[in-house]
Amino acid sequence: MKIAQFYDDDKIRLGLIRPEGLVSMDFNGDMIDFINMRELPEVKDRPIPINSVKLAPPVSRPSKIIAIGLNYKDHADESKGKLPEVPLIFAKFPNSITGPASEIVWDESVTKKVDFEAELAVVIGKETYNCTEAEAISCVFGYTCANDVSARDLQFGDGQWVRGKSLDTFCPIGPWIVTPDELGDPHSLRIQCFLNGWKMQDSNTGLIIFKVSALISFFSRHFTLMPGDIILTGTPHGVGAFREPPVYMKNGDEVSVEIEGIGRLTNTCRSVN
Ligand code: MG
Repeated sequence: MKIAQFYDDDKIRLGLIRPEGLVSMDFNGDMIDFINMRELPEVKDRPIPINSVKLAPPVSRPSKIIAIGLNYKDHADESKGKLPEVPLIFAKFPNSITGPASEIVWDESVTKKVDFEAELAVVIGKETYNCTEAEAISCVFGYTCANDVSARDLQFGDGQWVRGKSLDTFCPIGPWIVTPDELGDPHSLRIQCFLNGWKMQDSNTGLIIFKVSALISFFSRHFTLMPGDIILTGTPHGVGAFREPPVYMKNGDEVSVEIEGIGRLTNTCRSVN
């Protein structure tokens, strides 16, 4: 199943993505309400073309976004980072969430080094504390694409990363959630990032060091995961900051994250001041 949130005037609604288009669901609530209900509501409407609706982020109010640094060996190498022995966790505040086709916005007087990071995102499906790796996969509601947008000057200037990772709009996710039964193995997917159509990242989620089940089990020994929580599983090599010369995003740029079996998440950039 592929399931999206979309805007109907100011209201968020849920829809199933099918080959023939988006079918609106007869459900009064958002994605987290839907995850908690665990029952598929009726779909009565006829499919409409996906490009005739404005998609919202597939989860709009997660209790937390947990991100992982240096979780692909190729990216750890390019950043001259030492391979972590346990997952290197940081947080992005939920205000950073934005949806497909929306803008990534920043103030030039706050940051001048805005970078992209293509990532596989996991959406948690149930309250989870202290689970084993074997139990972890049953805690997954689904997967989506994410861009872990990063203000490198703030990230590296601060010593820890929360400020540089948490600016409003710095966590685009989407275009929809794909459930595990439809996606299959989350560790055999091509993952790419394009900037203005140029391929900047091209790797495979099979190269992830701490796999999805290991991450969920590890987190759950420290804190409770809630339905709708989002895990960003790390980015592969090719980010802008470690290129020669470095590449940062500019006003008017278009950035896309594409993951095999999920889809393509595209956002435009707008800098102010
Ligand atoms: Mg990242």
